[in-house]
Amino acid sequence: MTTTAPQTRSDTLPDHLRAPLWQNWGKTTECRPAYFFQPAHVDDLYRILAYAAEKRRKIRLVTSGHSWSALVPTDSILISMNHFDQVTMDLSDSAQPRVVIGVGATVRAVNDVLEKHGFALPLNVVLESVRFGGLIATGSHGSGWHNATLSDLVHAIDLISATGELHHFEQGIHSDEVMNAVRLNLGMFGIMLQVTLNIQKSWHVRAQDRRVPIPEVLNNLEELVCTHDNLDLFWWPFTDRMWVKSWQRTDAPITAKPRASALDRWSAALTSRMYREALRLAHHVPTLTPLICRTMFLATPSVRDQVVQLVEAIHYRRSIEVATMGCVEVAFKINAGFANVKDAIQTVFERTKAYAARHHHPFNVTMNVRFIDHSQCLLSPAYGEGHTCYIEILSRTYQKDWFTFSGEIGAEWLKLPQARPHWAKEYRHIPGVTEHLKRTFGENITRFNKVKQALGLDPDNLFVNDLLGEVFL
Ligand SMILES: Cc1cc2nc3c(=O)[nH]c(=O)nc-3n(C[C@H](O)[C@H](O)[C@H](O)COP(=O)(O)OP(=O)(O)OC[C@H]3O[C@@H](n4cnc5c(N)ncnc54)[C@H](O)[C@@H]3O)c2cc1C
Repeated sequence: MTTTAPQTRSDTLPDHLRAPLWQNWGKTTECRPAYFFQPAHVDDLYRILAYAAEKRRKIRLVTSGHSWSALVPTDSILISMNHFDQVTMDLSDSAQPRVVIGVGATVRAVNDVLEKHGFALPLNVVLESVRFGGLIATGSHGSGWHNATLSDLVHAIDLISATGELHHFEQGIHSDEVMNAVRLNLGMFGIMLQVTLNIQKSWHVRAQDRRVPIPEVLNNLEELVCTHDNLDLFWWPFTDRMWVKSWQRTDAPITAKPRASALDRWSAALTSRMYREALRLAHHVPTLTPLICRTMFLATPSVRDQVVQLVEAIHYRRSIEVATMGCVEVAFKINAGFANVKDAIQTVFERTKAYAARHHHPFNVTMNVRFIDHSQCLLSPAYGEGHTCYIEILSRTYQKDWFTFSGEIGAEWLKLPQARPHWAKEYRHIPGVTEHLKRTFGENITRFNKVKQALGLDPDNLFVNDLLGEVFL
């Protein structure tokens, strides 16, 4: 199918009349929008939309600004949705409880409401400060062999299209094709107001954190992953062990409540600040990286055995946003015996060693490997049959050689079966990535654009910015 080129004006306002500089959390992307609005009421949104339509100005939305890629930037109109933060329970269907979340609500605010009623989301990102508009728009994921992504939990979405119409999309009323396009739309279907997510009664889990020698992890990887509800791996560069985090449903009574513990909060805040300073040192004296990484690994909460509420297990680290980092993450389909997962991990070991041999230390935080089921959302990197591995590397923002190092690793990872980058992470610097995205999402991009066109949501592509235009127009 063909899509029309945007017939919109580029904003030529001089700098002194523009809104202040907007930067994302990781300081990896920024823009000077002509206008920055922080509406508190739906009527304000209609007014902004009418103005944008009349002047043919482009629009992007933002919530917490934690995405690393340039999904948010625009030189035209930027709208913060943080005031739309109401959270209410929907227990009208006794067979399927739900929560209705304003897009500006943080993970923490939603968890607080759910906990009060004894419910939980079965999966989530670790960070509690991000907001649901961004999480759903980008198809963010947690982990768990039987879990998909947050977008897959969406039962309904309310949004206002570019033409100023209020749409309510709901599973069971709209087709699967429509729902699986709307659930993960990267902000291209208009302004999302609220999302309704399927939830479950909360349960207890036995959460274990262990430091396990690398050969032991790799030799038993398939068994480790498949015999736990949830299993994540972390590797701190230059260490010979991995942090193996797992949890399993249990009827045993609670032994810890870290989210309610002031001591836990203070110690997380303190270690995160120490970590930030250690990374600053690694930035200025890169040869200290091996020592710093080994020390920081020992400071992680990687030796524990507790029975906790599910929400405690999911949000096991607090204050991780204190030190700004860069991040590259790729999803791919796991093959027999997890051979390709081991290859993906080995790539990081080998490149780290090769760079260190030349006294280069671009990678200084961690490699994280997570395992999930597949996603139904057309634009999810986890789309398609088969379990998915999400692998990521993180390093202090703008560490020297980071872009070369992570670009090389990203390119290797993208050779794996159905591999695709996470839309919200850094990916634009991976060689050939735009062509790769067009090729690997291929038919799904056509299906996504077809749903958008058939529903008449954004005929002039007002909501498509430069980054998305490269792939979708
Ligand atoms: C420290 C850290 C840890 C992270 N951990 C994980 C993780 O475990 N798993 C994972 O998958 N990701 C993770 N991420 C990525 C994160 O989940 C995504 O970047 C998510 O989008 C962040 O939400 P946000 O509110 O900051 O979104 P923003 O960056 O503000 O926005 C993201 C996108 O959503 C669009 N959008 C936002 N609101 C609306 C709306 N109302 N209508 C239409 N479009 C909208 C924006 O236009 C933009 O395209 C992590 C990020 C950080 C910084």
